[in-house]
Amino acid sequence: MSTLQNNLIRAVATAASIIASTVSTFSQDFDKVEIQTTKITDNVYMLMGRGGNIGVCVGEDGVFLVDDQFAPLTEKIETAVEAISSAPIRFVLNTHWHRDHTGGNENFGKAGAIIVAHDNVRKRMSTEQFIQALGNRVPPSPKDALPIVTFNDAVTFHMNGDEVHVFHVDPAHTDGDAVVHFRKANVVHMGDLYFSESYPFIDLSSGGSVNGVIEGVNHVLTMIDKDTKVIPGHGSLSDADGLKTYHDMLVTVRDRVMNMLTEKKTLEEIKSSKPTAEFDAAWGQGWIKPDKFVETIYEDLVKK
Ligand SMILES: [Zn+2]
Repeated sequence: MSTLQNNLIRAVATAASIIASTVSTFSQDFDKVEIQTTKITDNVYMLMGRGGNIGVCVGEDGVFLVDDQFAPLTEKIETAVEAISSAPIRFVLNTHWHRDHTGGNENFGKAGAIIVAHDNVRKRMSTEQFIQALGNRVPPSPKDALPIVTFNDAVTFHMNGDEVHVFHVDPAHTDGDAVVHFRKANVVHMGDLYFSESYPFIDLSSGGSVNGVIEGVNHVLTMIDKDTKVIPGHGSLSDADGLKTYHDMLVTVRDRVMNMLTEKKTLEEIKSSKPTAEFDAAWGQGWIKPDKFVETIYEDLVKK
């Protein structure tokens, strides 16, 4: 065998072992995940594990779940829910199609839950998707993972003594976002319209829009009061004040980028002017770094 062939074989073997170890690290990671339960009111809870925050509404009519994280976490999520309520999980509402919010659908659907989401969630989960910002190709979901009830505008669940009002907002984080308002409990689950401790990921390739996120957040702010508890898609439990602070940060950075665009500044010039500077300590420590956030705003606004 030639040296070239030998080197090639070695390179392939190394690549294979890197892939194998990445896959096993990934699954071991799920083994280590612990689901943390936060009681918000007598019948509404938040679960945090890996992926999007889960909302839980419990009572005599059964369990209503908002989002279900990743498939390998289903058993842990079920155990956490059983510790709150012995009732069956009747509904799972997906706030949008991303896998860190819908990964458990197939498991929960097979166990008897009705999966509900906006029309575009089912559409996107039915076909291959490409999340451009992450370079991430997502295959179509199996049939049992797809929402079997979809809605276009809004739907209300009359359960557990509450009115759970679920409504679509114009394209924001994606084009299929839903916000969940537990009216009596005075709790809102924002899905990924709200990252409470970091700059948001706005998925332009799934039809998202920076102005849409701002409008959606603004709309929720008009509905809630100082006592409302706000479950973000990612980050710790928040409230109306926290959501307002996030809204104002988004508006300030958006306006700065927009003004520089009007002055025909390039993306490089805009980034080097550091339009997020005073917010970076509080918001820039997550996986969306300041430059990435500015790029998303630029890329979105430059088209308009
Ligand atoms: Zn998302």
